Amino acid sequence: MLVGSIHMAYILAALLFIMALAGLSKQETAKLGCVSGMIGMTIALIATFVQVESALGFVFIIIAMAIGAVIGIYVARKVAMTQMPELIACLHSFVGLAAVLVGYNTFLELGGVAPETVTIPVGATANEIAALLDAANSSVSQAAALHAMSAAELNTHLVEIFLGIFIGAVTFTGSIVAYGKLNGTYKLRVFKSAPLVIPGGHWMNLAALVVSFLLMVWFMSADVPPMAPLVIMTLIAFVFGVHLVAAIGGADMPVVISMLNSYSGWAAAASGFMLSNDLLIVTGALVGSSGAILSYIMCKAMNRSFISVIAGGFGNEGAAVEDEEMGEYREMKAADVADLLKNSSSVIIAPGYGMAVAQAQNAVATLTEKLKARGIEVRFAIHPVAGRLPGHMNVLLAEAKVPYDIVLEMDEINDDFENTDTVLVIGANDTVNPSALENPNSPIAGMPVLEVWKARNVVVFKRSMNAGYAGVQNPLFFKENTAMCFGDAKKTVEEIVANLD
Ligand code: NDP
Repeated sequence: MLVGSIHMAYILAALLFIMALAGLSKQETAKLGCVSGMIGMTIALIATFVQVESALGFVFIIIAMAIGAVIGIYVARKVAMTQMPELIACLHSFVGLAAVLVGYNTFLELGGVAPETVTIPVGATANEIAALLDAANSSVSQAAALHAMSAAELNTHLVEIFLGIFIGAVTFTGSIVAYGKLNGTYKLRVFKSAPLVIPGGHWMNLAALVVSFLLMVWFMSADVPPMAPLVIMTLIAFVFGVHLVAAIGGADMPVVISMLNSYSGWAAAASGFMLSNDLLIVTGALVGSSGAILSYIMCKAMNRSFISVIAGGFGNEGAAVEDEEMGEYREMKAADVADLLKNSSSVIIAPGYGMAVAQAQNAVATLTEKLKARGIEVRFAIHPVAGRLPGHMNVLLAEAKVPYDIVLEMDEINDDFENTDTVLVIGANDTVNPSALENPNSPIAGMPVLEVWKARNVVVFKRSMNAGYAGVQNPLFFKENTAMCFGDAKKTVEEIVANLD
């Protein structure tokens, strides 16, 4: 009866998770998607609780959940929207580490390292001797249980353990490096956003995979599965994870995030297999496959080959970060930008990460209203990787109540720049960089960008001449029809609004 109810609860939770994913695919239904996911998780937790057999196990779970909840609530309340990608990378690393720990725990439960002899130290008390014998007996009985499995079952289980630990370890260290690369404050960034290019790096990756495979053969072919190949493979996978993500350049990071999301899903699914937990398998597969689909969509949007990105920056060899002299740039004050806007009949706003940092979205929404009230056509151009999260700009603009119908995707608006009077680039940089199209040696070469420079006038709002996330200088700033308006984006937009009254 209990088993049947638990299965029903798991199916219901899995359906709610699918509804959550479906809901999250559209802005209008996103809230409903979140609620479905929360209900599904509550059902899953209750179904897991009722399966706990010992009171001590129950206490452990409650303590672990309480610690997790306190940290989770604190972090979620404290984290700024601009730090979300780092938080996600951090959470992915936990999933990876959990998969590694579950893998080792499952291995130890199998009794794979059963001691053959029991050494009793001189002077041991009766209780100590009893404890040693007990430990030996339990290992032996587990080893017996292991051998009671059919050969096929045993092999499947060992593959699950090996792959689960491998994927988990790669996800763990890869996510830590991603966290370092995403660390918003440019000065504190632990890892540089530029790709780490080690000579023969791809051969190293290949060697890591081949050696891991050989270790798996060793692990599976021994009479009693040994711990040594598992430990060596884990160390290799840790290094592999670091190298895989470190080799990916800043501009490709959106793909890395969705890719690690996918890996964390597969790591969870592997844990589900090891623990024989169907819901964990389904949930892991949902996360794994949706992450893979998102990675594919991001790759297409950035004109990158999926394989080259997941292989760790394949094709980055020729890319050097430029630091060349670009010429003179022109400056403009907020009051002059206001005058320029008054004399424009069409305006496109291209927002980027800087709008999120400055929290300028409400000021930008007010500016939009003011311009529309003057009969000026205003639209937004959204690059698929603007900001630091897929959909980052859409979320901010929706929060500021900018109507959806004037917020257009890059493909929908890119041809309209040439017929536009003024483009306001608000805290965007890489996503409006013409070198992506004009310079084949640029690290962002080939990435489609918003072709803002085709408009009659372009004004770029930023604080300095610093490069964007990819660390590439932007020739847009030096074009004749471009003016730089320096300062915090929120303050600048507010000043312009004040000058429009
Ligand atoms: P960029 O990161 O290229 O540039 C943002 C610009 O904003 C900077 O040049 C900075 O210049 C400016 N800025 C920062 N703070 C402020 C402020 N308070 N006021 C005004 N300006 C400010 O942004 P884009 O959105 O154009 O490009 C996104 C980049 O991030 C791409 O390279 C993308 O690949 C990458 N990325 C995207 C992810 C995603 O999922 N969307 C995930 C991970 C990475 P200054 O310091 O001079 O002010």
